[in-house]
Amino acid sequence: MRSSASAWRARCYPDPVIPRPDLRVERVERLDAARLESLGLRGLLLDLDETLMPAGAAAPAAGVVAWARALLAAGVRMAIVSNGRRERVAAASAALGVPARAWAGKPWPGAFRRGLAQLDLPASAVAMVGDQLFTDVAGARAAGLRTVLVPPLSDAGLPHTRMLRRLESVLLEGGERGRPVHR
Ligand SMILES: [Mg+2]
Repeated sequence: MRSSASAWRARCYPDPVIPRPDLRVERVERLDAARLESLGLRGLLLDLDETLMPAGAAAPAAGVVAWARALLAAGVRMAIVSNGRRERVAAASAALGVPARAWAGKPWPGAFRRGLAQLDLPASAVAMVGDQLFTDVAGARAAGLRTVLVPPLSDAGLPHTRMLRRLESVLLEGGERGRPVHR
């Protein structure tokens, strides 16, 4: 039964149509330097809202700041690629010690290419970390990066974001039923 359902899905929705993250973690702090090294990752592009800080918060939590600083100290290159407002992104950038680009233009590939240029790393050595399947995962995959999906830090957000989240959860659960969701 399940295999025929899988076959049906594969026929109707081939992989390039449904963006799938390479990895799902329950929070960014799960990505420590040893884990990144084991995956061959030397850099991360980071979404800001709902990935590093809740949309309603003014600053990242202390644990996220400590995580970012530990990765930087370990030599992991990072940059924030956010569609958010300039002042908000600049404040988070200063708190985390991570360079950032606001109004980045995700999901268009140029947003991720500019992020890679900022890291001075090839796409094969970098993962995009974000909370949105379409904005973060699909765009970064199209640009050749690996992708890590995190659940949103809060359920705040604009109405169109909340609608997309419902669609995302249907796509992810349909494609990954029976597999651990977050590791
Ligand atoms: Mg986000």
